[in-house]
Amino acid sequence: MSVTPLIPQSKLPALGTTIFTQMSALAQQHQAINLSQGFPDFDGPDYLQARLAYHVSHGANQYAPMTGVQPLREAIADKTAALYGWQPDANSEVTVTAGATEALYAAITALVRPGDEVICFDPSYDSYAPAVALAGGVMQRITLQPPAFRPDWDAFAALLSDRTRLVILNTPHNPTATVWQKDDFEQLWQAIAAREIYVLSDEVYEHICFTDEGHHSVLAHDALRTRAIAVSSFGKTFHMTGWKVGYCVAPAVLSAEVRKVHQYLTFSVNTPAQLAIADMLRADPAHYQQLPVFYRARRDRFIQALAGSRFDILPCEGTYFLLVDYSAISDQDDVTFCQWLTKEVGVAAIPLSVFCDGPFPHKLIRLCFAKQEATLDAAAERLCRL
Ligand code: PMP
Ligand code: GLN
Repeated sequence: MSVTPLIPQSKLPALGTTIFTQMSALAQQHQAINLSQGFPDFDGPDYLQARLAYHVSHGANQYAPMTGVQPLREAIADKTAALYGWQPDANSEVTVTAGATEALYAAITALVRPGDEVICFDPSYDSYAPAVALAGGVMQRITLQPPAFRPDWDAFAALLSDRTRLVILNTPHNPTATVWQKDDFEQLWQAIAAREIYVLSDEVYEHICFTDEGHHSVLAHDALRTRAIAVSSFGKTFHMTGWKVGYCVAPAVLSAEVRKVHQYLTFSVNTPAQLAIADMLRADPAHYQQLPVFYRARRDRFIQALAGSRFDILPCEGTYFLLVDYSAISDQDDVTFCQWLTKEVGVAAIPLSVFCDGPFPHKLIRLCFAKQEATLDAAAERLCRL
Protein backbone atom coordinates (compact mmCIF):
# COMPACT_ATOMS: atom_id res chain seq x y z
CA MET A 1 0.00 0.00 0.00
CA SER A 2 1.41 3.39 -0.85
CA VAL A 3 0.91 6.00 1.81
CA THR A 4 1.04 9.67 1.01
CA PRO A 5 2.93 11.41 3.79
CA LEU A 6 1.00 14.21 5.43
CA ILE A 7 2.74 17.55 5.58
CA PRO A 8 1.34 19.73 8.33
CA GLN A 9 0.46 23.30 7.56
CA SER A 10 3.01 25.11 9.68
CA LYS A 11 1.74 27.25 12.53
CA LEU A 12 4.99 29.22 12.27
CA PRO A 13 5.68 29.21 8.52
CA ALA A 14 8.23 32.03 8.51
CA LEU A 15 10.29 30.63 11.35
CA GLY A 16 13.64 28.93 10.80
CA THR A 17 16.30 27.64 13.16
CA THR A 18 17.39 30.21 15.76
CA ILE A 19 20.31 32.46 14.90
CA PHE A 20 22.12 31.13 17.99
CA THR A 21 22.00 27.55 16.73
CA GLN A 22 22.93 28.64 13.20
CA MET A 23 25.92 30.70 14.24
CA SER A 24 27.22 28.18 16.78
CA ALA A 25 27.04 25.47 14.10
CA LEU A 26 28.87 27.70 11.61
CA ALA A 27 31.51 28.49 14.25
CA GLN A 28 32.05 24.80 14.87
CA GLN A 29 32.20 24.01 11.16
CA HIS A 30 34.91 26.64 10.62
CA GLN A 31 36.60 26.21 14.00
CA ALA A 32 35.98 29.87 14.70
CA ILE A 33 36.13 31.43 18.17
CA ASN A 34 32.49 31.40 19.16
CA LEU A 35 31.39 34.78 20.50
CA SER A 36 27.91 34.32 19.01
CA GLN A 37 25.53 32.27 21.17
CA GLY A 38 25.54 33.62 24.72
CA PHE A 39 27.16 31.11 27.04
CA PRO A 40 30.34 31.08 29.16
CA ASP A 41 33.32 28.94 28.13
CA PHE A 42 34.13 28.40 31.83
CA ASP A 43 32.37 26.44 34.54
CA GLY A 44 30.08 27.50 37.35
CA PRO A 45 31.08 27.47 41.04
CA ASP A 46 32.64 24.26 42.44
CA TYR A 47 30.27 24.36 45.41
CA LEU A 48 27.24 24.31 43.11
CA GLN A 49 28.59 21.29 41.24
CA ALA A 50 29.39 19.53 44.51
CA ARG A 51 25.86 20.14 45.79
CA LEU A 52 24.39 18.74 42.57
CA ALA A 53 26.49 15.58 42.99
CA TYR A 54 25.46 15.42 46.64
CA HIS A 55 21.73 15.61 45.93
CA VAL A 56 21.95 13.10 43.07
CA SER A 57 23.69 10.61 45.39
CA HIS A 58 21.30 11.26 48.27
CA GLY A 59 18.09 10.26 46.59
CA ALA A 60 16.76 13.58 45.25
CA ASN A 61 15.99 12.04 41.88
CA GLN A 62 12.20 11.95 41.62
CA TYR A 63 9.73 14.60 40.51
CA ALA A 64 10.00 17.93 42.24
CA PRO A 65 6.79 19.67 43.31
CA MET A 66 5.12 21.30 40.32
CA THR A 67 5.91 24.84 41.52
CA GLY A 68 9.53 24.10 42.50
CA VAL A 69 11.22 22.73 45.62
CA GLN A 70 10.40 24.66 48.78
CA PRO A 71 13.99 25.62 49.70
CA LEU A 72 14.56 27.14 46.26
CA ARG A 73 11.29 29.08 46.23
CA GLU A 74 12.12 30.41 49.68
CA ALA A 75 15.65 31.35 48.67
CA ILE A 76 14.28 33.18 45.60
CA ALA A 77 11.73 35.03 47.75
CA ASP A 78 14.45 36.09 50.20
CA LYS A 79 16.79 37.16 47.40
CA THR A 80 14.00 39.24 45.86
CA ALA A 81 13.33 40.95 49.21
CA ALA A 82 17.02 41.67 49.76
CA LEU A 83 17.50 43.12 46.28
CA TYR A 84 14.22 44.80 45.43
CA GLY A 85 12.67 45.60 48.82
CA TRP A 86 9.60 43.42 48.43
CA GLN A 87 9.12 39.84 49.60
CA PRO A 88 7.00 37.62 47.36
CA ASP A 89 5.15 34.73 48.98
CA ALA A 90 7.28 31.65 48.31
CA ASN A 91 4.23 29.40 48.02
CA SER A 92 1.92 31.37 45.78
CA GLU A 93 4.12 33.90 43.96
CA VAL A 94 7.33 32.09 42.98
CA THR A 95 7.45 29.36 40.32
CA VAL A 96 10.56 27.47 39.22
CA THR A 97 10.67 26.83 35.46
CA ALA A 98 12.82 25.03 32.88
CA GLY A 99 14.94 28.08 32.18
CA ALA A 100 13.61 31.55 31.54
CA THR A 101 12.43 30.34 28.13
CA GLU A 102 9.74 28.21 29.70
CA ALA A 103 8.65 30.97 32.07
CA LEU A 104 8.31 33.39 29.14
CA TYR A 105 6.36 30.87 27.08
CA ALA A 106 4.07 29.92 29.97
CA ALA A 107 3.41 33.57 30.83
CA ILE A 108 2.59 34.51 27.23
CA THR A 109 0.39 31.44 26.76
CA ALA A 110 -1.44 32.16 30.01
CA LEU A 111 -2.15 35.81 29.24
CA VAL A 112 -2.46 36.30 25.49
CA ARG A 113 -5.75 35.46 23.77
CA PRO A 114 -6.40 35.41 20.02
CA GLY A 115 -6.38 38.96 18.65
CA ASP A 116 -4.67 40.45 21.71
CA GLU A 117 -1.88 42.90 21.01
CA VAL A 118 1.52 42.53 22.64
CA ILE A 119 4.00 45.40 22.67
CA CYS A 120 7.70 44.71 22.60
CA PHE A 121 10.84 46.75 22.05
CA ASP A 122 12.96 45.77 19.06
CA PRO A 123 15.63 44.49 18.83
CA SER A 124 13.90 41.89 21.01
CA TYR A 125 14.90 38.44 22.22
CA ASP A 126 13.85 35.83 19.70
CA SER A 127 11.59 33.65 21.84
CA TYR A 128 8.87 36.24 22.45
CA ALA A 129 7.28 36.55 19.02
CA PRO A 130 6.77 32.83 18.27
CA ALA A 131 5.06 32.35 21.65
CA VAL A 132 2.79 35.31 20.96
CA ALA A 133 2.00 33.98 17.47
CA LEU A 134 1.10 30.51 18.80
CA ALA A 135 -1.25 32.15 21.31
CA GLY A 136 -2.95 34.01 18.42
CA GLY A 137 -1.62 37.38 19.55
CA VAL A 138 -0.35 40.20 17.38
CA MET A 139 3.04 41.79 17.98
CA GLN A 140 3.28 45.58 18.06
CA ARG A 141 6.92 46.55 17.88
CA ILE A 142 8.72 49.71 18.85
CA THR A 143 12.17 49.96 17.35
CA LEU A 144 14.85 51.27 19.70
CA GLN A 145 17.45 53.42 17.99
CA PRO A 146 21.22 53.13 18.49
CA PRO A 147 23.39 54.07 20.20
CA ALA A 148 21.30 54.63 23.36
CA PHE A 149 18.34 52.35 22.49
CA ARG A 150 16.08 54.33 24.85
CA PRO A 151 12.34 53.52 24.90
CA ASP A 152 10.33 56.28 23.23
CA TRP A 153 7.34 56.76 25.55
CA ASP A 154 5.37 58.85 23.05
CA ALA A 155 5.68 56.10 20.48
CA PHE A 156 4.65 53.64 23.16
CA ALA A 157 1.53 55.63 24.08
CA ALA A 158 0.59 55.85 20.41
CA LEU A 159 0.65 52.06 20.11
CA LEU A 160 -1.74 51.39 22.99
CA SER A 161 -5.22 50.22 22.03
CA ASP A 162 -8.17 48.45 23.59
CA ARG A 163 -6.63 45.21 22.37
CA THR A 164 -3.28 45.75 24.10
CA ARG A 165 -2.94 42.96 26.61
CA LEU A 166 0.76 42.61 27.41
CA VAL A 167 4.01 44.56 27.32
CA ILE A 168 7.25 42.59 27.16
CA LEU A 169 10.39 44.31 28.35
CA ASN A 170 13.93 43.12 28.90
CA THR A 171 16.49 44.78 31.14
CA PRO A 172 19.49 44.49 31.10
CA HIS A 173 18.76 44.12 27.44
CA ASN A 174 19.87 41.38 25.09
CA PRO A 175 21.15 42.23 22.49
CA THR A 176 21.75 45.99 22.98
CA ALA A 177 23.42 45.79 26.44
CA THR A 178 21.42 48.81 27.66
CA VAL A 179 19.38 49.00 30.87
CA TRP A 180 16.10 50.57 31.86
CA GLN A 181 16.25 53.52 34.22
CA LYS A 182 13.95 53.87 37.21
CA ASP A 183 11.96 56.51 35.34
CA ASP A 184 11.24 54.09 32.48
CA PHE A 185 9.23 51.93 34.86
CA GLU A 186 7.32 54.99 36.06
CA GLN A 187 6.62 56.03 32.45
CA LEU A 188 5.39 52.53 31.70
CA TRP A 189 3.13 52.58 34.73
CA GLN A 190 1.66 55.98 33.85
CA ALA A 191 0.93 54.78 30.33
CA ILE A 192 -0.83 51.55 31.29
CA ALA A 193 -2.32 52.32 34.73
CA ALA A 194 -5.83 52.98 33.44
CA ARG A 195 -5.90 49.93 31.16
CA GLU A 196 -6.05 46.19 31.65
CA ILE A 197 -2.49 45.53 30.51
CA TYR A 198 0.03 43.13 32.03
CA VAL A 199 3.82 43.32 32.01
CA LEU A 200 6.26 40.53 31.31
CA SER A 201 9.69 41.64 32.50
CA ASP A 202 12.60 39.54 31.26
CA GLU A 203 15.35 40.14 33.81
CA VAL A 204 17.63 37.17 33.16
CA TYR A 205 20.70 39.45 33.35
CA GLU A 206 19.57 41.06 36.63
CA HIS A 207 22.94 40.29 38.22
CA ILE A 208 25.03 41.49 35.27
CA CYS A 209 24.50 45.24 35.42
CA PHE A 210 27.35 47.76 35.41
CA THR A 211 25.61 51.08 36.07
CA ASP A 212 26.05 53.00 39.34
CA GLU A 213 22.35 52.65 40.11
CA GLY A 214 22.38 48.94 39.37
CA HIS A 215 19.53 46.89 37.95
CA HIS A 216 15.99 48.22 38.35
CA SER A 217 13.49 45.40 38.62
CA VAL A 218 9.81 45.68 37.83
CA LEU A 219 9.38 44.06 41.25
CA ALA A 220 10.75 47.19 42.92
CA HIS A 221 7.87 49.28 41.50
CA ASP A 222 4.97 49.04 43.98
CA ALA A 223 2.24 49.57 41.40
CA LEU A 224 3.69 47.78 38.38
CA ARG A 225 4.45 44.58 40.26
CA THR A 226 0.73 44.09 40.95
CA ARG A 227 0.39 43.17 37.27
CA ALA A 228 3.85 42.00 36.36
CA ILE A 229 5.52 38.68 35.82
CA ALA A 230 9.28 38.96 36.39
CA VAL A 231 11.44 36.25 34.85
CA SER A 232 15.01 35.28 35.67
CA SER A 233 17.46 32.48 34.91
CA PHE A 234 20.12 30.75 36.99
CA GLY A 235 21.91 29.84 33.76
CA LYS A 236 23.28 33.40 33.55
CA THR A 237 23.85 33.87 37.26
CA PHE A 238 25.80 30.66 37.88
CA HIS A 239 27.50 30.21 34.48
CA MET A 240 25.60 27.03 33.62
CA THR A 241 23.21 27.80 30.80
CA GLY A 242 22.83 24.07 30.15
CA TRP A 243 21.12 23.37 33.46
CA LYS A 244 18.04 25.25 32.25
CA VAL A 245 16.65 26.37 35.59
CA GLY A 246 14.84 29.67 35.78
CA TYR A 247 11.88 31.13 37.61
CA CYS A 248 9.13 33.69 37.59
CA VAL A 249 7.74 35.91 40.32
CA ALA A 250 4.21 37.28 39.98
CA PRO A 251 1.14 38.07 42.12
CA ALA A 252 -0.72 34.93 43.21
CA VAL A 253 -3.55 35.44 40.69
CA LEU A 254 -1.07 35.72 37.81
CA SER A 255 1.17 32.93 39.11
CA ALA A 256 -1.86 30.65 39.29
CA GLU A 257 -2.47 31.15 35.55
CA VAL A 258 1.19 30.71 34.64
CA ARG A 259 1.26 27.50 36.68
CA LYS A 260 -1.70 26.09 34.77
CA VAL A 261 0.43 26.22 31.62
CA HIS A 262 3.67 25.20 33.36
CA GLN A 263 2.13 22.05 34.82
CA TYR A 264 1.33 20.71 31.37
CA LEU A 265 4.37 22.08 29.59
CA THR A 266 7.03 20.52 31.84
CA PHE A 267 5.12 19.78 35.07
CA SER A 268 8.27 20.29 37.16
CA VAL A 269 11.97 21.01 36.91
CA ASN A 270 15.04 18.82 37.54
CA THR A 271 15.02 18.13 41.31
CA PRO A 272 18.74 17.85 42.25
CA ALA A 273 19.61 21.00 40.28
CA GLN A 274 16.94 22.97 42.15
CA LEU A 275 18.22 21.77 45.53
CA ALA A 276 21.82 22.54 44.56
CA ILE A 277 20.88 26.07 43.48
CA ALA A 278 18.98 26.62 46.74
CA ASP A 279 22.11 25.58 48.68
CA MET A 280 24.25 27.87 46.55
CA LEU A 281 21.97 30.90 47.03
CA ARG A 282 22.04 30.43 50.81
CA ALA A 283 25.73 29.60 51.16
CA ASP A 284 27.26 32.14 48.83
CA PRO A 285 25.14 35.20 47.98
CA ALA A 286 28.46 36.96 47.35
CA HIS A 287 28.69 35.02 44.11
CA TYR A 288 25.88 36.92 42.43
CA GLN A 289 26.70 40.13 44.30
CA GLN A 290 30.18 40.00 42.75
CA LEU A 291 29.00 39.23 39.21
CA PRO A 292 29.14 42.86 38.02
CA VAL A 293 32.78 43.07 39.13
CA PHE A 294 33.53 39.70 37.54
CA TYR A 295 31.97 40.60 34.20
CA ARG A 296 33.07 44.22 34.18
CA ALA A 297 36.67 43.03 34.23
CA ARG A 298 36.02 40.85 31.17
CA ARG A 299 34.12 43.60 29.40
CA ASP A 300 36.87 46.14 30.01
CA ARG A 301 39.63 43.76 28.99
CA PHE A 302 37.82 43.00 25.75
CA ILE A 303 37.11 46.68 25.03
CA GLN A 304 40.76 47.47 25.71
CA ALA A 305 41.89 44.69 23.38
CA LEU A 306 39.59 45.99 20.63
CA ALA A 307 40.73 49.59 21.05
CA GLY A 308 43.14 49.31 18.14
CA SER A 309 40.54 47.84 15.78
CA ARG A 310 38.37 49.62 13.25
CA PHE A 311 35.21 48.58 15.10
CA ASP A 312 33.26 51.32 16.83
CA ILE A 313 32.37 50.07 20.31
CA LEU A 314 28.96 50.93 21.76
CA PRO A 315 28.36 51.51 25.49
CA CYS A 316 27.72 48.34 27.49
CA GLU A 317 25.65 48.88 30.65
CA GLY A 318 24.71 45.27 31.33
CA THR A 319 24.52 41.66 30.04
CA TYR A 320 27.61 39.84 28.77
CA PHE A 321 27.28 41.19 25.26
CA LEU A 322 29.15 43.97 23.52
CA LEU A 323 27.81 45.71 20.41
CA VAL A 324 30.26 46.89 17.80
CA ASP A 325 29.64 48.89 14.64
CA TYR A 326 31.57 47.61 11.61
CA SER A 327 30.74 50.47 9.17
CA ALA A 328 34.42 51.35 8.81
CA ILE A 329 35.24 47.78 7.77
CA SER A 330 32.48 46.60 5.44
CA ASP A 331 29.36 47.58 3.50
CA GLN A 332 27.86 44.11 3.84
CA ASP A 333 24.57 43.62 5.67
CA ASP A 334 24.99 42.29 9.19
CA VAL A 335 23.96 38.69 8.45
CA THR A 336 26.41 38.41 5.53
CA PHE A 337 29.10 40.13 7.56
CA CYS A 338 28.70 37.68 10.48
CA GLN A 339 28.94 34.72 8.10
CA TRP A 340 32.05 36.18 6.50
CA LEU A 341 33.57 36.97 9.90
CA THR A 342 33.04 33.40 11.06
CA LYS A 343 34.38 31.74 7.89
CA GLU A 344 37.20 34.09 6.94
CA VAL A 345 38.30 35.73 10.17
CA GLY A 346 37.51 32.93 12.59
CA VAL A 347 35.27 34.86 14.99
CA ALA A 348 31.54 34.13 15.23
CA ALA A 349 29.13 36.94 16.17
CA ILE A 350 25.38 37.60 16.09
CA PRO A 351 23.82 40.09 13.62
CA LEU A 352 21.39 42.51 15.25
CA SER A 353 18.80 42.74 12.48
CA VAL A 354 17.53 39.23 13.25
CA PHE A 355 16.06 40.58 16.51
CA CYS A 356 13.84 42.99 14.55
CA ASP A 357 10.79 42.44 12.42
CA GLY A 358 11.05 45.63 10.40
CA PRO A 359 14.07 47.25 8.79
CA PHE A 360 17.13 47.69 11.01
CA PRO A 361 19.71 49.04 8.58
CA HIS A 362 22.54 49.50 11.10
CA LYS A 363 25.90 47.79 10.84
CA LEU A 364 25.90 46.29 14.31
CA ILE A 365 26.95 42.90 15.58
CA ARG A 366 26.86 41.34 19.06
CA LEU A 367 29.93 39.76 20.65
CA CYS A 368 29.65 37.62 23.81
CA PHE A 369 32.37 38.34 26.37
CA ALA A 370 31.41 35.58 28.84
CA LYS A 371 34.68 33.92 27.89
CA GLN A 372 38.06 33.16 29.36
CA GLU A 373 40.59 35.94 29.01
CA ALA A 374 42.63 33.88 26.54
CA THR A 375 39.53 33.42 24.35
CA LEU A 376 38.79 37.14 24.37
CA ASP A 377 42.40 38.05 23.64
CA ALA A 378 42.58 35.61 20.72
CA ALA A 379 39.30 36.91 19.27
CA ALA A 380 40.37 40.54 19.66
CA GLU A 381 43.67 39.83 17.97
CA ARG A 382 41.80 38.51 14.92
CA LEU A 383 39.34 41.39 14.93
CA CYS A 384 42.12 43.96 15.14
CA ARG A 385 43.56 42.66 11.86
CA LEU A 386 40.52 43.94 9.94
N1 PMP B 1 15.76 36.00 27.80
C1 PMP B 1 16.90 36.54 27.37
C2 PMP B 1 16.97 38.00 27.14
C3 PMP B 1 18.00 35.71 27.14
O1 PMP B 1 19.14 36.25 26.70
C4 PMP B 1 17.89 34.32 27.36
C5 PMP B 1 19.02 33.36 27.08
N2 PMP B 1 20.22 33.86 26.96
C6 PMP B 1 16.68 33.82 27.82
C7 PMP B 1 15.63 34.68 28.02
C8 PMP B 1 16.49 32.36 28.06
O2 PMP B 1 17.06 31.93 29.26
P1 PMP B 1 17.19 30.39 29.59
O3 PMP B 1 18.43 29.89 28.95
O4 PMP B 1 17.24 30.34 31.09
O5 PMP B 1 15.97 29.71 29.07
N1 GLN C 1 20.03 33.63 25.01
C1 GLN C 1 21.22 33.18 24.37
C2 GLN C 1 21.79 34.32 23.52
O1 GLN C 1 21.26 35.38 23.48
C3 GLN C 1 20.96 32.00 23.47
C4 GLN C 1 20.01 31.00 23.98
C5 GLN C 1 19.68 30.00 22.91
O2 GLN C 1 20.54 29.59 22.16
N2 GLN C 1 18.45 29.64 22.83
O3 GLN C 1 22.77 34.14 22.89
